[in-house]
Amino acid sequence: MTAQSWHALRHKKYQFSLRLFLLLNAFSALFSIFSPLYYVSALTFPVVAIFLLSLALLLWHWKFETHKINIPLTSLLFGSLWAWHIVIKTRQVTYDPFTWLLLAFVSVIFIGALAFATHIKAFTLHSLPAFLVCIGLSSHEHWPRIFYSFALPLAAIAIHQVIQKRNDRFAQQLLYQLLEERETLTDLSMIDPLTGVYNRRGLQNRIENLPAAEHHEHFILLLDIDHFKAYNDRYGHMMGDQALTRVSAAIRDTVRSRDIVARFGGEEFLVLLTSLTRDQACQTAERIRQQIIDLKISRSLNESTSTTLTVSIGMGIFDTENTESAIEKADKALYEAKHRGRNNIFLSRELQAI
Ligand code: GH3
Ligand code: MG
Ligand code: MG
Repeated sequence: MTAQSWHALRHKKYQFSLRLFLLLNAFSALFSIFSPLYYVSALTFPVVAIFLLSLALLLWHWKFETHKINIPLTSLLFGSLWAWHIVIKTRQVTYDPFTWLLLAFVSVIFIGALAFATHIKAFTLHSLPAFLVCIGLSSHEHWPRIFYSFALPLAAIAIHQVIQKRNDRFAQQLLYQLLEERETLTDLSMIDPLTGVYNRRGLQNRIENLPAAEHHEHFILLLDIDHFKAYNDRYGHMMGDQALTRVSAAIRDTVRSRDIVARFGGEEFLVLLTSLTRDQACQTAERIRQQIIDLKISRSLNESTSTTLTVSIGMGIFDTENTESAIEKADKALYEAKHRGRNNIFLSRELQAI
């Protein structure tokens, strides 16, 4: 769920209000035509217009869903038509015209309150013409009743709108918080928790976004700690973990920030040196090898005596188009570096050729 779908959701809510409004108008107009509560001619021009217009708009809205219909304008138009209908019909009602007036006004209010329970502007624009007409057509002593019928739902809708806005704000904040947390979790899922460098997933992600080298070349280093099993056996797994952390930090500190360092396996690291010359890459590999020998790694937590580690490095050219084969070639070179006695750097055949 993104901020975009949040807006889509709000748009849907808005469209739903409009459809409900049109539907209620159509029903109400139909009711006025076929079942008039008073024995007078009910077929007025505005009520027919309301019926036909609401059906037409419903159909149009259903066909062209992406076209937005202006709700305040539509509600004002329908409100005016209802007011016109009330004016025409009031003239024909002879017995207790005020009760009829109030009933007609309340039905207009009812449509607005149902469709626009949290949209005070639309509700007001829809009810206002009928309200003014009722005030104009009734005597002074009835005015408080008409005011009351209008003010009560108005107040209720105003309160409802405030509550709804607060709920919307709360839901939106919650959504943004969730999005932020999801981003943090995605970042975390790309980092190796022990060493703080990228894990395989993070590496994959960086490789996917790595631009092809323009003037120079990308190089790949596969590093494997020498005799690390023996180190673990001798000093314990915990000290082994600490050694891994020191080694990865040493690698990270030796390369540039735009180079990529990842833990590729247990005690194996992959480094991508981006956009540089062959000589610069060889010098960096040698600096890493030297930096790791120079590390003074403590043998146990409460002893000041320290020990050293060495790494073997297989080096090759990195091709963003063919990651698998580049890693394979570097792995072969690493195997050769191990075979030739460890603590050294071996270049892939491809790299030896240039
Ligand atoms: P080589 O010089 O041929 O690479 O010898 P090696 O002993 O390093 O190679 P091997 O693959 O036989 O052993 C790798 C060891 O690395 C075995 C395993 O105990 C250790 N190891 C792998 N992951 C971790 C880790 O997360 N923590 C610790 N402490 N040790 C690990
Ligand atoms: Mg290994
Ligand atoms: Mg090893």
